[in-house]
Amino acid sequence: MRALHNTPRGNRLHIAIFGRRNVGKSSLINAITNQNIALVSDVAGTTTDPVYKSMEILPIGPVVLIDTAGLDDQGELGALRVRRSYSVLNKADLALIVVEAPGRLQACEEDILNKCREKNLPVIIVVNKCDLHPLDAEVARDTGCDVVKVSAATGQGIEELKMAIIRNAKKWEDRPLIGDVLNPGDHVILVTPIDAAAPKGRLILPQVQTLRDILDHNCTASVCRETELAATLKGLRSKPALVITDSQVFKQVAAVVPADVLLTSFSILYARQKGDLHTLALGARAIDALKPGDKVLMAEACTHHRTEDDIGRKKIPAWLCQHVGGPLQFEWSSGSGYPDNLRDFSLIVHCGGCMINPREMLSRLAQARANKVPIVNYGLAIAHLMGILPRVLSPFPEIKEAILSQEV
Ligand code: SF4
Repeated sequence: MRALHNTPRGNRLHIAIFGRRNVGKSSLINAITNQNIALVSDVAGTTTDPVYKSMEILPIGPVVLIDTAGLDDQGELGALRVRRSYSVLNKADLALIVVEAPGRLQACEEDILNKCREKNLPVIIVVNKCDLHPLDAEVARDTGCDVVKVSAATGQGIEELKMAIIRNAKKWEDRPLIGDVLNPGDHVILVTPIDAAAPKGRLILPQVQTLRDILDHNCTASVCRETELAATLKGLRSKPALVITDSQVFKQVAAVVPADVLLTSFSILYARQKGDLHTLALGARAIDALKPGDKVLMAEACTHHRTEDDIGRKKIPAWLCQHVGGPLQFEWSSGSGYPDNLRDFSLIVHCGGCMINPREMLSRLAQARANKVPIVNYGLAIAHLMGILPRVLSPFPEIKEAILSQEV
């Protein structure tokens, strides 16, 4: 194993570590990573909020270990910490439930195990402190999960645990962004506006990752701003296979790109890679059912710096109000917060979610579905508001056909 810090967290397998206070969750992280990262103390309840540690486990690749507060934490604050531990289930790809040998699973351990099952999460039960309790542990005998006995203190069993993690890491679905719809040798144009929202001196993550995916699939790319798009197209010997744009400039770009060239946006690629393009595209069509006065949730998965003319705060809300012909009531959420009162909203408009992993995005979609609220992402919402939804879905013909033929 070696430390790897440059893969974005949203592209890492998320391994959540649950257990009661003082069963050795933090020591286990230190033993797995072979470093003193997590704060370890004999005082129960040292870990309060979830703590994230990035590393690489070969052959899985980059992972993030999430240390959580004790499931048996007490008092008002303790209950809050337990809720935060449970919320980690929304992003976990694999759960380690750490228990202390010997004995059977306790009620809080059974409860987290059941929640993992409801979410179809693979679970490894880690029986810690086996150096102190050398007898065969009875714990978890009937759970059907992999059970690994370790001692985080001596390192005993840690290699077996890593092997179990590799076995249980359900096919870490490394879904391509766009490479699967390209043929080797295809040329793609990426349109990246450089406006006040663009970070100084670099491209943003979706642009970099898309470029990398194109190169990984033996294709070539040109990158330009929307102002140079016409000249870039003119300079090519043949038409590009695809144009991928920032959705904020959909209108200008759609006017310049020939009708027979496929067009889509970075956020639509993310909708497909991280979430469920079908659900989000149906959400775009649900915009037409909005009425003035309806409540709309604008949800962003991180707390990035916002500009005066911010896409989520200003532009999309203004376009939506214009579309429905009157004012709407907007609420905003950002970062890991996702409101409990989803049922109160007529529509959720979510960002591309480049900073979160597919599990978390899918969990947000599932919460919307459970509350019967349509959900759309920024790119698809803009495409629909600009009247070009069918066109920007054209690289994905099955989805396009299904969406356009389905009643909303
Ligand atoms: S708001 Fe969403 S799309 Fe924008 S940077 Fe944050 S996670 Fe990525």
